[in-house]
Amino acid sequence: MPSLQTATVLLAKSLRTRQSLLGHTSTGVTRESLARLNRTPAPLAQISDLKPHAPRGEQLDALREAVCVCRQCEHLAASRTQTVFGTGNPQADLMFVGEAPGADEDNQGEPFVGRAGELLTRIIGAMGLARGDVYIANVLKCRPDMESGSPGNRPPTAVEMQRCLPYLRGQIAIIQPRVLVALGKTAMAGLTGRDEAMGTMRGRWFTFENIPLLPTYHPSYLLRNGSNAEKRKVWEDMMLVMEKLGMPVSEKQRGFFLSAS
Ligand code: SF4
Repeated sequence: MPSLQTATVLLAKSLRTRQSLLGHTSTGVTRESLARLNRTPAPLAQISDLKPHAPRGEQLDALREAVCVCRQCEHLAASRTQTVFGTGNPQADLMFVGEAPGADEDNQGEPFVGRAGELLTRIIGAMGLARGDVYIANVLKCRPDMESGSPGNRPPTAVEMQRCLPYLRGQIAIIQPRVLVALGKTAMAGLTGRDEAMGTMRGRWFTFENIPLLPTYHPSYLLRNGSNAEKRKVWEDMMLVMEKLGMPVSEKQRGFFLSAS
C-alpha cells in the first residue's frame, strides 16, 4: 500500500497532468496550479483527446503530436528540420534533461545523438543501464536557430526555454521518474531558473515538481575537458543517482576514473 505521502504526491502529479495536458481544472485546484495552467501555451491546452488513464506511451504520443505542430517560437519553427520530443522508456525511473537539440538532433529527430549522445550512452551503460531503460529529453524541443552558414549550435534563451517548458512538465508528469538529472548549466537554468556555475551546483540535490533533481556537467563538457578528474566528478554524480534509486554500486564502479591523467 502506498503511504499517504506517496499517494498525495501521485495525486498532485495526476492533477498536474490533467491541468497541463487537458487544459481544464477540477475541484480542489490550488492557486499555484491555476497560475501554472494560465501559463500553459495554447497548443498544449488544446489537447482535448488525451486520455489521462491511457498507457504512458499513448499519453506521450499525444503530447508528441502537439509538439510536432507547435509554432509558438516562429523563428524556431521556421528554421527547424523537425521537433525533437524525447526518447526512452515511458516507465523510466531516471530521466536525463538537456538544454536543446543541436544540428545532429535536428537532423535525426532524437535527443543526444552525435558524440555527446554517444558519451551519454556510455555513462548510462557504466551505471548498469541501457539507453532504453531511461528517458532522455531536452527543455527546448526545437533547435535554436543560427545565422545562415554559421557552424555549431547556440544555447537556448531563457524566454525560449520558458515558453517550451510546459511540454517537458507534461512529459515528466506522464513518466513520473523518481530522479531527474539536468545535463549542464543551461538545462538547470531552464528547469529551475538558477543561474549558477555548474561547479557550485553539481553534487547537490535540488527538486523539480517534488522530484529529486541532480545537476551535472553536460557530456559535451567532458568531450572538451576529458581529464579523469572531470570524468570522476560526473561519475560521482551518477553514483549519487544510483544510490538514490537504490541501485547497487560495485567496488569496480566505485573505482572508476580514480587514476590521475
Ligand atoms: S521551441 Fe517549444 S515552444 Fe518553441 S516552437 Fe518549438 S516546440 Fe514550440
